[in-house]
Formats: sequence, structure tokens, C-alpha cells
Amino acid sequence: MLGAMQDWDLRVTHLIDHAAREHGNREIVTHWADGSETRTTWGEVRLDALKMTQALRKLGVQSGDRVATLAMNHSRHLVSWYGAVGIGGVLHTINPRLFDDQLEYIANHAEDQVLLFDKAFTPIIERMKPKWTTIKHYICFDNGEFEDWIGAEDGQTEWAKGDERDPCMLCYTSGTTGNPKGVLYEHRSTMLHAISGIQPHSFDFDAQAVMLPVVPMFHAASWGLPWGGAACGVKFVYSAVNDPKVLHDLMIREGVTHSAGVPTVWLAMFQHLDATGADLGKLKQAIIGGSAAPRFMVERLMKAGIRVAHAWGMTETSPIGTVGAPSHNWDELSFEEQVDNVCKQGRPLFGVEIRVVSLDDNTVELPRDGKTSGALQVRGPWIIKRYFKAEEDATVDGQWFDTGDVGVIHPDGTLQLTDRTKDVIKSGGEWISSVELENAAMSIPGVAEAACIGIYHPKWDERPILVVVKKPDADVTAEAIKDHLAQHIAKWWMPDAIEFVAEIPHGATGKISKKDLREQFRDYKLVDA
Ligand code: AMP
Repeated sequence: MLGAMQDWDLRVTHLIDHAAREHGNREIVTHWADGSETRTTWGEVRLDALKMTQALRKLGVQSGDRVATLAMNHSRHLVSWYGAVGIGGVLHTINPRLFDDQLEYIANHAEDQVLLFDKAFTPIIERMKPKWTTIKHYICFDNGEFEDWIGAEDGQTEWAKGDERDPCMLCYTSGTTGNPKGVLYEHRSTMLHAISGIQPHSFDFDAQAVMLPVVPMFHAASWGLPWGGAACGVKFVYSAVNDPKVLHDLMIREGVTHSAGVPTVWLAMFQHLDATGADLGKLKQAIIGGSAAPRFMVERLMKAGIRVAHAWGMTETSPIGTVGAPSHNWDELSFEEQVDNVCKQGRPLFGVEIRVVSLDDNTVELPRDGKTSGALQVRGPWIIKRYFKAEEDATVDGQWFDTGDVGVIHPDGTLQLTDRTKDVIKSGGEWISSVELENAAMSIPGVAEAACIGIYHPKWDERPILVVVKKPDADVTAEAIKDHLAQHIAKWWMPDAIEFVAEIPHGATGKISKKDLREQFRDYKLVDA
């Protein structure tokens, strides 16, 4: 027997319908690459997205076809998200920071039909056009091209109908080995993720929220913000440039209450604040994810009265998995304890289950005792089952997805990451956390950046070395770093060497590229080995 409630499929077009109907005049502000600014509304975004579906149909785009974008954060990009899914298509956001080989691979693998791009990325288009074999139509977001294209339509049409399990979005993740892998989100998974992601225990959105998303729309579905924001009629403030001065200026002028970005973004903002003596205005929630939020960052924001939602997730998890939110006993904790709490990766959203398993046998669950670390696995309706076009499921025993991250789960359900499987250093059969070594090193005033990698050692198999970039004019020595580390880590974790470099390599998403760093130190020999 079935229940007796109405059919209302969980398709993401309901989000934009709701935003236009209930929050139609709420603004979307864009600061463009040329310095100009425009304002539109949720109502206009919906109308433009409907026009785009008509324009796509004229190009012959059909349900299920991939419509790609290569663009920064702006209102036309937002329109294109809803236009692409509105025709029943699959929105494929391409990361312009990827390398040519990856760009070539993913657009061809995705079989993209149409590509909408920012003028600033014209050189990429020129370079890649001969290599992209499936893209038939290139439309520039700038120079009035996009507006002319959709402007020829009247918007008198309807969204494509279909199943809620139909795909709506495709994001590739550039893992550390092999070709990038596509994660194919569904309407239903995206909708459930959006509903859970806006709750008070996660991003805490409401109709008063003014959100400046610094996390790019081309990375991990922009943490679901364009979908979740529509559900509550958030005012979005977009910037197509990532200059902290521009971002800060927008924050103050537009009364930004929420912002989201990786730690590097917040670091750049701090530098701007230090240089100008400015504050963060009305900001009340800082969402930090993608990499661990450093303690000094959390502390500084919290001291300014800003709630820090430290989130963990990955492209494969849509991407929100866990978020730090005040615990039930928050008010009884000291400030230091609260900061400690926020530095961990938070607790699962409703809809996500997590567990840690043995690093040697990925089906043996470990206790949630805050001590026993293992491989982090997740499951839920917005967690990947299988990579796009892959023949085999990406899950362990048909259910759990192995994240490649390593951590502990505390008795209250808080996740604390300690490493990644690929970065764990195994010394004498025991694991060393490169993340903890780096965190300890990063808290030394003269250290700008530090990365830890494992180097072959004949006796111990692997030993850690620490690669350090000094802050300009700092005279920090290897001895001083070792003295500091000695206070924070087990003796046998002490790096066998500390190497100073001018720069540490970063990947396309701004994170340290351990793969490249390992490659750089491939022939490195430890002195006592
Ligand atoms: P991506 O798919 O590019 O978003 O990368 C996901 C990976 O980033 C995760 O598997 C983690 O290794 C890392 N990551 C994401 N959020 C955090 C966080 N809050 N703390 C530490 N690592 C994180």
C-alpha cells in the first residue's frame, strides 16, 4: 500500500519557483570583472532561466545533455545553473584552474554540448577548442552575448518534467592519481542536500541572510549555495574577482551576514583587515571548509563575535558532510574549549552517516572514542554511489563510500580529521599524521606555510620531512621549529629533516599539492638513511 499524499517530485526547479514566488524581489548583486556592478532579483533570475531553456531547445539541446560552464561567480552564471537543469539537462561546472590535459579529458568525457564561458577565459577556449570534440556551441557570458541569446526568448514556457532521480549536475574531482572523476548529482540528492544544508545547525540561512559566496561556483557545486540560497530567498552578493579589497568593500556596502570560502580566502581577508584596520561589518557566520580551518583563524573570527561553521565535505558528498555547530552545552564551555570544538570538523548533517574503519580492513568499524583513528566512510542520499560512466560502484560493501580521509569520531559524534589515506606516513608500521605535524609547524610565527611528506627510509619504511616556507624577513631556524614541534608531537613523529623552500606547489583548487611536492623531493635522501 502507498501513502496518500501528493506527488511533488524533488526536482531542483521547485527551488527557483519558490524563490521567485516567495522572495521575488530579493536581490542578487554582482561585481563584474570590469569593475561594474549589477543587480537582479530571484524573480528575474527565474524568468531569465526560463528564457535560457527556450534558447537551449533552439540549439537542439535535449533532456540529459550536458551543458557546461567555465565561469566565476556572478548572476548570469546563476541563471545558467537553473536554465541548464530547467531543460532537464545536466549542468557541468568546469574548473578553469585545471590543467589543459584535465580540461580536455573532462569536457570530452562529459560529452558537453554547450559551453557558457566568461570572457576572461577566452584564452582557455582558444587553446582547448581543437581538443574538445563534443562541444557544438560556445556562448560568452560577457559583451552582451548571453543577454542577447536569451533576450530573443519570452520565457513563456515550462520546466522540463522528469524523474526526481534524473541527473541534474556533474562535477569532476581531480583526485591525486589518474584522470579526474565525475560525480553525477541527481535532482533528489541535490534537493535533500539543499534542505539540510540551510538549517541552523549547518549554514543557518533565512530570508535576512546576505551571502557572499567566495567558494567558486565551479568547485564542488559551490557547496550547494545556489540551490540552498533559493530555498530561503537569500540575497546573494557575487564577485567575479577574488580580490580581498573588492570582497571586503562588498561585504560592508551590501551588509553581508554570511560568507563561505576555503581557509586561504579568509587568510587573504585577514591580511586586508590588518593593512587597513577595517572590520568585517555585519558578518555573523563564516563558513570555512575544503581544508582544515587553522586555530588562529577560528579564534580571530570567534573573538570578533562571528560564528564559524567549519565544514567537511568533498565533491563526492555533494559536498556537505559535517559542519561544526554549537553543541548543547556550548554556553558551559570556556572560550578555549569552544575554539577547540570548532577546529574539529563538526557533526554530520541529517542525511549523512559517518563511520571510521580500520586502515587495514575497511569493513571493520572502529569505536567512536575520540582516540581511535581510521579511514572515514560516509553514506546517505547525497553521497556518491558510482562515478560517472564507471562500471563499478565506488562504495565498499555496496553502501559506504571511502573518503580517503582519516580521522577520529568523538563520543558526541564530532568528526576530527587527522590525515588523508594518501598522505599518511607509515613509520615502523605505525601511522604518522602529516596534518598534525603541519598544524603544529603552522602555529610558529615565522612559518608562512608548511607541508609534510613521507620519504623512503630503509629501516622505518617511511619517515616524515617538513617542507617550510618562511614568512618574509623571518629568521626561523630548523632547530627552532624542532624545539616547537617537540612540545606538540610524539618524539618518534619528529621530522627527520626540515627543508626551507621559496614556494610549496598548489593544485588547481588552491590546496597544497602533495603529489607535486613528493615529485619535487623524489630523489631526496635522508642523511641517516
Ligand atoms: P574536494 O572534493 O576537492 O572538495 O576535496 C575534498 C577533500 O578536502 C576532503 O576529502 C578532505 O580531504 C578535504 N577537506 C574538506 N574539508 C575539510 C576540512 N574542513 N578539514 C580538513 N580537510 C577537509
